[in-house]
Amino acid sequence: MSAAYGEFDLIRRHFRRERPLRQATLGIGDDCALLTPAAGQQLAISTDLLVAGRHFLADVDPFTLGHKSLAVNLSDLAACGARPLACTLALALPEIDDDWLQAFAAGLFALADAHGCELIGGDTTRGPLTIGITVFGDVPPAQALLRSGARPGDGIYVSHGADQGLGDARLALQLLLQEDPALARWPAAVRAQLLQATRARLEQPQPRVALGLALRGLASACCDLSDGLSGDLRHILDASGCAALLQAPALLQAASPALRQQDATLALPYALAGGDDYELLWTAAPEHHQQVLSAAQSCGLQATCIGRIEAGNGLRLQQADGHIAPIASTAFDHFR
Ligand code: ADP
Ligand code: MG
Repeated sequence: MSAAYGEFDLIRRHFRRERPLRQATLGIGDDCALLTPAAGQQLAISTDLLVAGRHFLADVDPFTLGHKSLAVNLSDLAACGARPLACTLALALPEIDDDWLQAFAAGLFALADAHGCELIGGDTTRGPLTIGITVFGDVPPAQALLRSGARPGDGIYVSHGADQGLGDARLALQLLLQEDPALARWPAAVRAQLLQATRARLEQPQPRVALGLALRGLASACCDLSDGLSGDLRHILDASGCAALLQAPALLQAASPALRQQDATLALPYALAGGDDYELLWTAAPEHHQQVLSAAQSCGLQATCIGRIEAGNGLRLQQADGHIAPIASTAFDHFR
């Protein structure tokens, strides 16, 4: 259903809010918004683009889409240890659908308000459904968490909530797409129940902003898990010039509980290749181990140490029986 109004009414109706600004100096309505970072703070800036059919299913619930569009960006701020301040929204829409926009904005603002992240501008145009968000955060100088600080001997950690784990989101996606023959063997009732258990992890990931802040000064390197653990860990290894040895039993502890219960043989490949987890992956020196666990706990999360940084290069996995094998970049490409 197309509404009979134009671009400026759309912005006024759905994205411009009648409330005083808390973070920005100037918000929506002028040629630029104005941000005034606290004296001496650095601005952390990140952009993510979401394209219908590529990053989300075109018929996804617009409320959860509004949430996720911002969540993936806030997750980047979290990975840097930055505090969210503001965001901009670039929107291409095939048509003006008032109900869709209202739900999308509600999902976006609910998460934005929860993190004190103000929508301060954007652009709106007709086109294939595409959502581009840029987030702005602040972080004290030299405290941003980077990918390049991992050192041999550091522990490798991932976050997850209770009853959640790596691979939940990918499991939900595969249950929706019905493309993985391994899952097709399960009874329909089991698939429905697993989808119910994991769907929110795919559609409404919770960016680990508080954890990112708590890891300032503790983590030697950090990134968020968007493309899957093995790929994202390689980014840290490449940037830091190191190798890593992961422990299968520990990784299993951090893997999707739904999968572990249903078919443990899939839990590791899904945890490694997953994607869309939006957990944090970081390294920390051994002397910070207890503080790291407490930091996660203080955020209502668990941190699992899944392995160790080593000198050299490459990513390897050690099984419970001691056997060590490289994780080939294609070995866990379970989803092609
Ligand atoms: P300009 O033509 O100067 O680029 P626009 O006419 O595109 O400005 O936008 C008018 C105002 O509305 C600007 O302040 C812009 O940042 C804001 N805006 C446009 N689209 C959006 C959107 N999708 N969400 C939030 N703000 C928006
Ligand atoms: Mg414009």
